[in-house]
Amino acid sequence: MSEVSTSPVAAVHLEKTAFHEERKAGSFMIGDVDSDGETSFWYCCPCPCGRIGLLNVGKNFKPADGPSWEWNGSLDAPTLMPSVHHVGHWHGWLQDGVWKSC
Ligand SMILES: [Zn+2]
Repeated sequence: MSEVSTSPVAAVHLEKTAFHEERKAGSFMIGDVDSDGETSFWYCCPCPCGRIGLLNVGKNFKPADGPSWEWNGSLDAPTLMPSVHHVGHWHGWLQDGVWKSC
């Protein structure tokens, strides 16, 4: 075991109110999906800092305007491509509903 926690963290989908009140590490919420298939992916950093990040994602595609991520459209087992870098303290992947640091 290292001193820095690198344990996988479950990505739990929450509604807006719960997301902002609980600040649960690894939780996320999705904005309304536009007609072009793009939406906002809000997440609470998988480390215990409680900070919230926002990604521009496309449902099953990567939006042309960067920076952006491809989201598989799942709320139960979300996957994002490419990796997520919460600058300064967390970098890793969200795959099949689990945040894995790297
Ligand atoms: Zn953090």
